[in-house]
Amino acid sequence: MLALRRAGVTNRYVVSVMERTPRELFTPVAFKDSAYDDVTLPIGHHQTLSQPAVVGMMTEALELTDRMKVLEVGTGSGYQTSILSPLCRRVYTIERHQPLLAEAEKRFEQLRLRNITTKAGDGTLGWEIQAPFDRIIVTAAAADIPPILAGQLSVGGIMVVPIGYNAEFNTMLRVRRTEKGLETEELHGVRFVPLIPEDAAAFA
Ligand code: SAM
Repeated sequence: MLALRRAGVTNRYVVSVMERTPRELFTPVAFKDSAYDDVTLPIGHHQTLSQPAVVGMMTEALELTDRMKVLEVGTGSGYQTSILSPLCRRVYTIERHQPLLAEAEKRFEQLRLRNITTKAGDGTLGWEIQAPFDRIIVTAAAADIPPILAGQLSVGGIMVVPIGYNAEFNTMLRVRRTEKGLETEELHGVRFVPLIPEDAAAFA
């Protein structure tokens, strides 16, 4: 994929999974012609399917191995989840919008991805009963590093999260938990929809 190469994604496992995952399955009918363009696409509920280059960069930044337990916040269409699934042991994914989650679950079934566990709810609260996680990926922008998620990251673990709530542009952060605390590294400028907070009055 040219877009991945341009974005500097070189991990051959990541590239190979992205090449064989049919993005058209995750794309609304009206946008099928753009399924393989390097663009963000609407998926309803004011949410988006991230562009392939960003999915590739985030996946590579996680430094995954097949032994890892991964938490994803923001299932959306399920595209990013489907890229994570073959690259790790298990993915736990949380989505705020139940209808989006239901659609994503059908796609996981179609692709026979059997190591994904889903939950509808507020992902900023994490998944305490399954913690700690080796890796955490947040696919909507946060104001700051979500503290509960940081607390559910194992020592040696990595979280990738776009920071800059309500900002025009966000910064993709890679956060590593060490014995001494959190180490952060700025990776790229990105543009994400904001996380919907726990107390959001209205969302559908
Ligand atoms: N990774 C997705 C994909 O491949 O289609 C795209 C994710 S989209 C940019 C962000 C998603 O995060 C939306 O589906 C949105 O509903 C979800 N979201 C927003 N706030 C959330 C929260 N607090 N907990 C869980 N999901 C949330």
